[in-house]
Amino acid sequence: MKKHNFNAGPCVLPKQAIESAIEAIRDFDNTGIGILEISHRTPGWERVMAETEQLWRDLLNIPDDYAVLFLGGGASTQFFEVPANLMKKKAAYLQTGVWAKKAAKEAKFYGEVEIVASSEDKNYTYIPKGYKIPTDADYFHITTNNTIYGTEIHEDIDSPVTLVADMSSDIMSRPVDVKKYGLIYGGAQKNVGPAGVTFVIVRKDLLGQTGRNLQTMVDYRTHIGDEPRNNSMFNTPPVFPIFVMHETLKWVKELGGVEEMYKRNKKKAELLYNEIDRNSLFVGTAVKEDRSLMNVCFVMAPGHEALEGEFMAFAKEKGMVGIKGHRSVGGFRASIYNACPLESVGALVACMQEFEKMHK
Ligand code: PLP
Repeated sequence: MKKHNFNAGPCVLPKQAIESAIEAIRDFDNTGIGILEISHRTPGWERVMAETEQLWRDLLNIPDDYAVLFLGGGASTQFFEVPANLMKKKAAYLQTGVWAKKAAKEAKFYGEVEIVASSEDKNYTYIPKGYKIPTDADYFHITTNNTIYGTEIHEDIDSPVTLVADMSSDIMSRPVDVKKYGLIYGGAQKNVGPAGVTFVIVRKDLLGQTGRNLQTMVDYRTHIGDEPRNNSMFNTPPVFPIFVMHETLKWVKELGGVEEMYKRNKKKAELLYNEIDRNSLFVGTAVKEDRSLMNVCFVMAPGHEALEGEFMAFAKEKGMVGIKGHRSVGGFRASIYNACPLESVGALVACMQEFEKMHK
């Protein structure tokens, strides 16, 4: 039976990226040697690294004064590398979920942290509005998409101080005005590849300003390097995840770039949210205006809570994979990232409709 993958990350990837990866494991770049066995100093690999960076620059219109880095450690490592590199005395954080909270916790190792607003009071079901960003902060940190709760900041906000964003779960899902940000980071394992590589896009003039002595690997300047640039090759890069990222971004570009992704993502999200709002058995958990285009969270409607287990089993039988909500929200979460086809969303909607008929 056909499976529909709604996992929150790692998650579904473009078929053609998977096919290329399988081929590259057998034979990379017609070398007769597989990608898992090549040296990262081979010219074929250096070309893939350069092309991957160029794809990022082309797709997001990243200006030349920004570096694009591919590192290890996941977004969680950036929770401390960001303040280590950027915080002189104080940083401001918007607390829109546990990932944002974890990011703020790590920043406290480096100085004062001001939580400008939090939606913890309502289990992060909304994005706080009307907060004031302190102008004495070295940067303001946001999490643009809250993977667990299904809320999203839909615009590139204006900030009087350097704006830093964790875009782990909505990067490449819509156009972004990179110039509005000082730094953007995230784990690749949602929209841009498999687990194992972390992207960091940083405006270079922000670096080296803290007076702090940094460990070599923590200092972003190490990975940027002097001329000739280190190009994220100061140490061994995560070769295979970067290769799959390269293939994934090629797919995004071939389809028409982030504008086309945005169009498709809006269509998929609309289809699913419309069904949640129409279907008498389900309700969405996030406030409507802040609903994420990537992670759609919903629970059984009041009075129908007892059906949760039955729907989960029914959906599983119909081929739905990974729709169990995070334990802190409960219910269901369908993650509908770039590579999730409209057909899968249609299959989930059909499943919800059939389940409703069974219980009328
Ligand atoms: N930030 C967000 C928004 C996430 O969704 C996640 C993981 O799901 C993380 C950070 C943590 O990422 P990693 O597992 O790469 O450390």
